[in-house]
Amino acid sequence: MFDNLSVKLDKAFKNLKGQGRITEINVATTVKEIRRALIDADVNFKVAKDLTDTIKEKALGQDVLIAVSPGQLLTKIVSEELTNLMGGKSEDINLKGDPNVILISGLQGSGKTTFSGKLARHLKAQNRNVLLVACDIYRPAAIDQLKVLGEQIEVDVYAEPENKDALKIAKNALKYAKENNKKTIIVDTAGRLAVDEQMMNEIERLKKELNPAETLFVVDSMTGQDAVNTAKTFNDRLNFDGVVLTKLDGDTRGGAALTIRKVVDKPIKFISAGEKMDALDIFHPDRMANRILGMGDVVSLVEKAQNTFDEEEAKRIQKKIRKNQFGFDDFLSQLEQIKKMGNLKDLMGMIPGVGKAIKDIDIDDDSLKPIEAIIKSMTLKEREEPELLNGSRKQRIANGSGTSIQEVNQLLKQFEQMRKMMKTMNKMGGAKRALSGMN
Ligand code: GDP
Repeated sequence: MFDNLSVKLDKAFKNLKGQGRITEINVATTVKEIRRALIDADVNFKVAKDLTDTIKEKALGQDVLIAVSPGQLLTKIVSEELTNLMGGKSEDINLKGDPNVILISGLQGSGKTTFSGKLARHLKAQNRNVLLVACDIYRPAAIDQLKVLGEQIEVDVYAEPENKDALKIAKNALKYAKENNKKTIIVDTAGRLAVDEQMMNEIERLKKELNPAETLFVVDSMTGQDAVNTAKTFNDRLNFDGVVLTKLDGDTRGGAALTIRKVVDKPIKFISAGEKMDALDIFHPDRMANRILGMGDVVSLVEKAQNTFDEEEAKRIQKKIRKNQFGFDDFLSQLEQIKKMGNLKDLMGMIPGVGKAIKDIDIDDDSLKPIEAIIKSMTLKEREEPELLNGSRKQRIANGSGTSIQEVNQLLKQFEQMRKMMKTMNKMGGAKRALSGMN
């Protein structure tokens, strides 16, 4: 996400390396490079200019403390200004109303239907009784797509495939929701490839009729300046409440994320970076700014871990580690949990400093596959007691997992090192416990 922009900003800050203080001259050069980096990332020219003017003004107005270098100071100022540009703080969606109505708007292909499913899953996890409503009457496949998603996340979908009147469907859905105790209804609407009058009329009427607590505009972040223009057109007609930026996992330059808030004066509420139903995040301007600046996003990483890791399982594994009984099955279970957190490269990118370092390295979830295959080719007994693995057993495992005996050996070696480390930690913990017991 935003890799190029991060690299260019980093380069701009390097101008200040070795400089003891901030001067008109060194700041001017750096700020100029920052502006160029932003414009290259498809940030609207005026927005980039205003932003860098503010950055310059702030930088020149500050005394550099001995503890921080001019580069660090400027990074901090840029981080604050990027955060402000993207709205300052995160904003929740409005869940008022019984049922609470959320209307989803946007162009065809922007990711509306996918987002509707993700939002339903997100709200269901908060114990809300959700209903998805298919109001895309022009694309029959959209109804099926929503039904498939609904089944996957176990959320009811209201659809009338024969009905060609979106307004009527929406009204019927509202009635159905009341009768079936649904607390939130998410209405997926029709989109066209480009803004068109009929579509605008229809969604305007839907909005009037449904009086939604929240109207969201979904936009593909890869479309850059077009995303900003479309947002403006939709906002003029619909006066929506928030923006959803999709496809941030793609080759997006970041301009839309940085410009939309300023141009339409509406907050970005969600971001999505992937097709899977769990690829949805609440938008936090400060965290995004830090990611853009390659400062990592430890807060999101920790939250992801908290939401994904199964506490019972973690306790069970801790117990086994304490008893020096950590086996390959436990290792496999840990790998599964890590995979559930999402794409490995994205996860690593959230660790400060790592994002830039791994930018060009190809890391994908497939890199864990040989390890899983090797473990799955072991018998249960072998997983518990890897000491059993002699030459012929190793060969059998290599054959079974489609790997080589070297790969099996390498995994065994790494696993043994891990176990040794766990033992040492246990001993240290034991000694500490013994000492504290003595007091
Ligand atoms: P709609 O026409 O607005 O309802 O768009 P869809 O929900 O059908 O999405 C269009 C395409 O974009 C589908 O192939 C989705 O799987 C894909 N898509 C949606 N959101 C994302 C995302 O965040 N990342 C990626 N890579 N693809 C996405």
